[in-house]
Amino acid sequence: MQAFREAILNGASGEEIGAIPLPDHYRAATVHRDEVGMFEGLPSAEKDPRLSLHVEEVPVPELAPDEAYIAVMASAINFNTVWSSIFEPLPTFSFLERLGRESRWGARHDLPYHVLGSDASGVVIRVGSAVRHWKPGDKVVLHCNYVDDQDPSAHHDSMLAANQRIWGYESNFGGLADLTVVKANQIMPKPAHLTWEEAAVNALCNSTSYRMLVSRSGADMKQGDVVLIWGATGGLGGYAVQYVLNGGGIPVGVVSSEDKVQLLKEMGCEAVINRRAKNYRFWKDDHTQDESEWRRFGKDIRALVNEDPDIVFEHPGRTTMGASVFVTKRGGTIVTCAATSGYLVEYDNRHLWMKLKSIKSSHFANYQEAWEANRLVCLGKINPTLSVCYPLEQVGEAAYQVHHNLHEGKIAVLALAPTEGLGIDDYALREKIGEDKLNIFRRHASRQREQASTD
Ligand code: NAP
Repeated sequence: MQAFREAILNGASGEEIGAIPLPDHYRAATVHRDEVGMFEGLPSAEKDPRLSLHVEEVPVPELAPDEAYIAVMASAINFNTVWSSIFEPLPTFSFLERLGRESRWGARHDLPYHVLGSDASGVVIRVGSAVRHWKPGDKVVLHCNYVDDQDPSAHHDSMLAANQRIWGYESNFGGLADLTVVKANQIMPKPAHLTWEEAAVNALCNSTSYRMLVSRSGADMKQGDVVLIWGATGGLGGYAVQYVLNGGGIPVGVVSSEDKVQLLKEMGCEAVINRRAKNYRFWKDDHTQDESEWRRFGKDIRALVNEDPDIVFEHPGRTTMGASVFVTKRGGTIVTCAATSGYLVEYDNRHLWMKLKSIKSSHFANYQEAWEANRLVCLGKINPTLSVCYPLEQVGEAAYQVHHNLHEGKIAVLALAPTEGLGIDDYALREKIGEDKLNIFRRHASRQREQASTD
């Protein structure tokens, strides 16, 4: 892949890039099927991605007619990288086996290793014979909705497709690598004003937050809505806050440190709750919740914005769902896409039905939603939440940081890009948006590092 790296960095034409011979092997971050039992018996927190993630050479798979090879300049850690690398809630090899049974092309994915990664920025280097809209040399970002567009169920909302998958989690050949294989309908234009690493971190979390809040498939937020956002400086939350502010809503951000409170204020989110300082105890013990703590939380929200949330942006799951249902306004919506702290959630149904609240489920985004979310990044209306960047060799450490909630926003991983700061084409737009806005999370992270080194 070095020849592709040199060509891309030297501004080679699409024709020149398309003429470079493909390698037999490429460098990739993998987990191994014969290691899925390595953490058996350990609590989640002790399952260490630094032990299960490998960076190694793997063979280049054959290309299907509707696919493209992408030279990956940068990728990102998502929480699904953590799930895959700690083999929870189940090892991802069962997904690959199922895909392997579907077709001749699906069979390529069922391997003793799984190349992870559900985000990337890079350059198209080859396209299959059925690809119409993309060609070698195109600078792109990739979204992770992996669907068979010959399946009728994929044609209303492709997230409802019977065989919908997440690329690099439920399929192989993901983005944490120097090369990836994607379906043509996963490709979107790279925002020209961003570096490779800034461009690589957005698609998964930005599109998910877009569907949850803005799209009619989600909570369908309107101007003036109060939106409670759990983990408001996290991967999803950092985009959710921007959507609420852009859409004329009133975000109430929940975070767990004073540093994060400051970060949210810098983003323009004025109503913030530090859940650690407030020490909410929604659960008295493993089986019993405490309604008086839900009530205390509700009062704290009212004290900030004078009313209850129209929408609660939910993803922590078991720890928070009871409180989320309780504090939502009469007739409001709890929109959920995850359950980081446990998926067997519990809430008091009386507070749901008597006050006509709705729980809306959401999962990633269809191509159109991902495209619209990416368009907002291209226009500079949504900014990357990149806080820190690791080289591919340190992918285990990067996943460890996310697993232990030591990060803010998004962590990028450099693949073929040799350093940060490369890949910008539209300097005028960058200047118009301003480095200040583009670098809020990174500036914050570097201030924290400085602080830590002086302490
Ligand atoms: P992230 O970057 O780790 O951010 C999550 C934030 O949630 C953390 O920063 C933390 O913020 C907060 N949090 C964690 N545990 C909590 C708890 N017990 N109670 C309250 N807040 C808690 O992760 P992410 O990328 O935002 O993803 C969040 C979840 O959504 C993950 O489970 C991920 O797998 C899932 N997800 C689903 C989809 C989908 O399409 N369905 C897409 C993306 C992500 P504070 O500590 O500051 O409060």
